[in-house]
Amino acid sequence: VTGGAGFVGSHLVEHLLSLGDEVVVLDDLSTGSTRNLAGVADHPRLEMVHGSILNPQTVRSAMVSCDRVFHLAAAVGVKLIVEQPLRGLRINIHGTENVLTAAIERQASVLLVSTSEVYGKNTADRLREDSDRVLGDPLLSRWTYAGAKGIDEAFAKAYCDQEGLDVSIVRLFNTVGPRQTGRYGMVFPNLVGQALRGQPLTVFGDGLQTRCFSAVEDVVPAMERIERDPRARGEAYNLGGAREISILDLAREIIRTLDSRSEIVLVPYEQAYAPGFEDMRRRVPDNTKANGLVGYEPQTPLTTTIMRVAADLLSRERLGSDAMPLAGAGAFRGVV
Ligand code: UDP
Repeated sequence: VTGGAGFVGSHLVEHLLSLGDEVVVLDDLSTGSTRNLAGVADHPRLEMVHGSILNPQTVRSAMVSCDRVFHLAAAVGVKLIVEQPLRGLRINIHGTENVLTAAIERQASVLLVSTSEVYGKNTADRLREDSDRVLGDPLLSRWTYAGAKGIDEAFAKAYCDQEGLDVSIVRLFNTVGPRQTGRYGMVFPNLVGQALRGQPLTVFGDGLQTRCFSAVEDVVPAMERIERDPRARGEAYNLGGAREISILDLAREIIRTLDSRSEIVLVPYEQAYAPGFEDMRRRVPDNTKANGLVGYEPQTPLTTTIMRVAADLLSRERLGSDAMPLAGAGAFRGVV
C-alpha cells in the first residue's frame, strides 16, 4: 500500500490485515503519519517502509514480495497543490509511473487510486466514468493537479493495453472520516474542528457549492473488492457519497450535530486561496458501475461521520497531537 500511513491508506491497511493479508506500507510520511497506523503498529503481518515513490529502487524493493499493489501515495489537498504545484506534479506523475513499472516487473496487480478532480468543472447531474472532463487554464495549479491525475490514469491504461499490466482505477469523491486532517484544506475536518472549538466555521464563496461526501469505511472495502475482481481490469470506477449537500448546509449540520455555539462566516475565495482560484460548483457521482461490480452502496449517514470525526479530533487533541485542523479564516489566510 503506497501512502499506507495516510488517511484512506491507513484504513485500507487495517482492512487488508483483517482479511488475513500480509501488508507492506510504503510512505514518505510527508502528509501521512505513523500515528495513523498506531492501532496495528505491532501487527506481525505488517511491514513499514519509509521512503518515496520518487525513488524507483525504493519502490522495487518495497514491492519485492507483493502480488497486489494499492497505489494511494500522492500529493493531496487543494491547498497543498496550490502552494506546491511542482511537488504535486513530480509525485503524481513520476511517482506513479515508478509504481506502475515496478508492478509490471513484479507481475503484481495494481489499484490506482484517482480522484473526482479529473472531471473538473463538469456539473452534470451524476458524473459517469465516461463523462467529459471540463478543465480550466493549465497554468492554474488546481487544473494542473486534475491534469496530473488524468495522466496517471492514461499511463495505467496504456501500461494495461500495451504491456499487460493488470490495473484498475477508482475515483474517490470527497472521502471523509477519522484521521483526515484539515491541514491541507479539506473542508470536513476543518469545519468539525472549528465547531468543536467554538470558532466560526469558514465557508468559502457563497457556500452553495455542493459535494457528495462518502465515508471511508464504505469506500475502503469496495476498493479491495474492485482490485480483486478480474472484470475491473483496465476500467475506472467512481466511489462517492449518495447525498448531495451544499457546504453551507454541511456547516449547519455540523453545528447542529455537535450542538456547537459557533457561527458561520463566508470567506471570499480570493482570501481563502490565491487570486484567480476556481472552485467546483458541484460534484455528484454516478456510483452505478461500482454498485454493479461489487455492490458498492454508501451506507453511513453524514451525522454518524460528523460524530466519528469529532471523536477522533478530540482524542488526538488529548494526545497532544499537532494534527488538529486549522484554527479559522485568519490562520488559513495567513498560510496561503
Ligand atoms: N471549503 C470551505 N471551507 C473550508 C475548506 C474548504 O468552504 O474551510 C470548501 C471548498 O472551497 C470547496 C469545498 O469546501 O468548495 C470542498 O473542499 P475540499 O478542499 O474539502 O475538497 P474539494 O474542493 O476537492 O472537493
